[in-house]
Amino acid sequence: PAQRTPLIAGNWKMNLDHLQAVAFVQKLHWALKDAKHEFDTVDVSVFPPFTDLRSVQTLLDADKIPFGLGAQDLSIHDSGAYTGEVSGVFLKRLDVRSVIIGHSERREYHAETDEVVAAKVQAALRHELVPVICVGETAEDLERHGASAVPVGQLEAALAGVPASADVVVAYEPVWAIGSGQAATPEQAQEVCAKLRDVVRAALGDDAAARTRILYGGSVKAANIASFMRQPDVDGALVGGASLLVDEFASIIRFRK
Ligand code: PEP
Repeated sequence: PAQRTPLIAGNWKMNLDHLQAVAFVQKLHWALKDAKHEFDTVDVSVFPPFTDLRSVQTLLDADKIPFGLGAQDLSIHDSGAYTGEVSGVFLKRLDVRSVIIGHSERREYHAETDEVVAAKVQAALRHELVPVICVGETAEDLERHGASAVPVGQLEAALAGVPASADVVVAYEPVWAIGSGQAATPEQAQEVCAKLRDVVRAALGDDAAARTRILYGGSVKAANIASFMRQPDVDGALVGGASLLVDEFASIIRFRK
């Protein structure tokens, strides 16, 4: 889709300490430069653990590396007696641009409901952080309701009260495809991503639907990225495991080659 710059986002989850993270970003940048990658054709974002953010931000700034910096979560609150939580205010001060919200691992292991996800979307927008809103059905949901009903409902809930001008990213991540090695087919991804774009249109209007990037996530690798990127409503990928391998992630970023 011509007007939407593709976005390749690397969700490192709880991997790479701050020293490993810095080494990884340097190597990835070198690999792309060696390959004569045109950096302005694809947006790249990395989502390290909180403890890595300062170090990675310093490197991106010092070496003028054109990757966006993202966080994997944020608090619904801005400050106060919330032990262990991280405020969007602090993320913004660190030059963090975006934040993953509602990843299936947070929904499953941290009992994040649609209400919590919606409150986190509001917290991100309050601090001009781009929420990367993750939605997706489990294998059981798929069997019971088909592919799109659950992600559509999750996205409707997340976008309630979001203004039409908001900059958001949506990630369709079927839970059964995450870390399983079994990606959705490009046709499956397209079908659900098109429905998610309809949700964006209904909630935020035509301009937002045309502008908003909808990513596919779930066992994306160098060998399958191009097939997803050919789909009209898939504007990029949220990549877990393969974002931890320099050459593999570089090949995903260079999906056009
Ligand atoms: C993810 O967890 O966001 C993800 C897509 O993981 P993987 O690429 O490893 O399936």
